[in-house]
Amino acid sequence: MKFDLHCHSHCSDGELSPADLVALAGECEITHLALTDHDTLSGLAEAAEAARKREIQLINGVELSCSWNGQLLHILGLGVDPENTGLLQGIKINMERRTVRALAMVGDFAEHGIELEEEVDTLLKGAVPTRPHFAQALVNLGYARDKRQAFKRFLVPGKPGYVPMQWPNLEQISEWITEAGGVAVLAHPLRYNLTRSKLLRLIGAMQNVGVLGMEVSTSTTDRQQTDMLADLAVQHDLLASVGSDFHSLDQPWARLGSAQPLPAHLVPVWSELTIS
Ligand code: AMP
Ligand code: MN
Ligand code: MN
Ligand code: MN
Repeated sequence: MKFDLHCHSHCSDGELSPADLVALAGECEITHLALTDHDTLSGLAEAAEAARKREIQLINGVELSCSWNGQLLHILGLGVDPENTGLLQGIKINMERRTVRALAMVGDFAEHGIELEEEVDTLLKGAVPTRPHFAQALVNLGYARDKRQAFKRFLVPGKPGYVPMQWPNLEQISEWITEAGGVAVLAHPLRYNLTRSKLLRLIGAMQNVGVLGMEVSTSTTDRQQTDMLADLAVQHDLLASVGSDFHSLDQPWARLGSAQPLPAHLVPVWSELTIS
């Protein structure tokens, strides 16, 4: 069995359609795939249909933005019921916040003499509006060489196009996921540049609000980092997850299926999911 429980389609900031993503998962010999688009479940039906045609099990997922102590965090909901009213309501809240932010970003860029509205609209095609869409628009219009540069010159605090966000708190997000029958999992724990003591405080807070898991193996964690996260998972009884955070084919550092298998002594998150 080969698991990849974190990736994105063009329903949020990924490049591929859900069906093409599942086809790629097949080429990568992934047997269990979770599609985890940012703040939307809209790609799951297409992905499920594509997965049925192959021998791939699709796990319904989502990646929700939230804040904890002023820190932006990404929490994955794995194995959620995509029809759960509470979760759908929560997702709608995040979507509305994203829409308001996107309009404010367009306004802020305009104040800096950069007109992005048309290009962003063309790129979105109904997807969840994310900063990578703005980054791509900046590249397409010649304001940045690539998306990475766009995220250096724009879109981040102190730079044009940055609009601070108020996300729901950790407890709220955990509740939406759990009530929808899913397992809440901290995504890419090392991406937030937390000190060890802050990471330990976060794990304590997660346990208080029912975030039961943590990604231990990702496409960018090296052996030493995986071992460190594995130790934390064991010490704090967290379920361990594995995910590449694949977005697009032009990001060689996050290829689909590239996260290493979990160390054998961990309790994998799929022990709590219905899989075969
Ligand atoms: P948003 O949730 O709309 O604020 O966008 C966050 C997404 O932007 C993340 O999920 C990443 O996919 C992407 N992202 C953040 N920082 C960078 C960066 N420096 N370069 C490329 N993509 C980035
Ligand atoms: Mn993303
Ligand atoms: Mn993320
Ligand atoms: Mn992600």
